[in-house]
Amino acid sequence: MHFFGDQVLWGQQVHNLEPAYEKKTSLKQRLVYLQTLLSNIIKLACTIDPNNVEEQVFGVLAVNLTKKDRFISPHFTVHRIGEGVFAALHKPGGGAIANAGFVDLGDRTLVFDTFISHLAAKDLRLAAELMTDNPVAYVINSHYHNDHMRGNQVFTDTEIITTQGTLELMHTAGQEELDWDTNQVPLRLEEYKAQYLAAQDEASRNRLIFWLDYFQVIIDSLPALKICYPQQTFEERLTLAGPIRQVELISYEGAHTGSDAILWLPEEKIAFLADLLFVQCHPFLPDGSPDAWLETLEKIKALGAKTLVPGHGPVGRRKDLDLMTKYIDAVSKLAGDKTSSGDQITPAHLGESFKDWDFSLFFTPNLEFMRQWLSGRQ
Ligand SMILES: [Zn+2]
Repeated sequence: MHFFGDQVLWGQQVHNLEPAYEKKTSLKQRLVYLQTLLSNIIKLACTIDPNNVEEQVFGVLAVNLTKKDRFISPHFTVHRIGEGVFAALHKPGGGAIANAGFVDLGDRTLVFDTFISHLAAKDLRLAAELMTDNPVAYVINSHYHNDHMRGNQVFTDTEIITTQGTLELMHTAGQEELDWDTNQVPLRLEEYKAQYLAAQDEASRNRLIFWLDYFQVIIDSLPALKICYPQQTFEERLTLAGPIRQVELISYEGAHTGSDAILWLPEEKIAFLADLLFVQCHPFLPDGSPDAWLETLEKIKALGAKTLVPGHGPVGRRKDLDLMTKYIDAVSKLAGDKTSSGDQITPAHLGESFKDWDFSLFFTPNLEFMRQWLSGRQ
């Protein structure tokens, strides 16, 4: 995710832990529970590096020793959206920032995107392996933005795959983003904390919370960050198959970034769209092209997906693709309106459909980018 602008806020690391186990009734149930517990303890213990034990590890340990249909992390929530198919959605206060997912292929598991930090990615790997009972074999990076690939260092023993275009962008624009994060984020965090403390109302504070989380997790993760580039690339489509499921990776050019990949499950009609879809939050337009994005949205609609996992926001439906089209059209219309200056146009001018959308800080750069885009076309 790209950050820009002058405002910032402060995130609290909220550890929303649930009770570690539930009361069982029969002896058989208790034995099954005990076996699961012991097996999970062993798996979890094997994931801990004794030289680098973090406080949160114990929180995760405490709450993930029970059933396979539940995983608790301070960074994300896990949602079963199909048999063997899971969405991992950023949790406020956590260090995921973006959404990710994982899919059981039968004898191996595929992870789609790796969050912004190894701190959250460790939990993602744990969730993927505990809940599918298979090792992670493939990791996909949808695009080069920090919140979709900085957890790669947790998966270096797997095959990390992206598009050729994204690999190139990771070395160029991704490196620029890392330089910006390294040099600018500490200052931005302080600025946003000050704004948070000075905010007069709940709505203003809520607008800042996500960005406080964003800057805080970048600062927390940079000292141990190792950028791990994908070893495998593809151009247009790639099929990956296991004994129980076949999935497709499809690439699109120039929409959200120069290159974006999605994960498509044709049987289940589930698509992981990363940042080609934002649900209930403003998308970020300036790293791509509005025309290409609109065309890409039409191609994605033609796939016929029923369940859509966005890069940000809750799991969506087809209507959310229509809203994304409507959003880009609305920004384009506002940008083309020569009767009003930039200062007079606010997110409220987008219309009723978008009035409660999060990430309103993206609106101004989106509008400015669209103005430049339109003037470049004339
Ligand atoms: Zn992005």
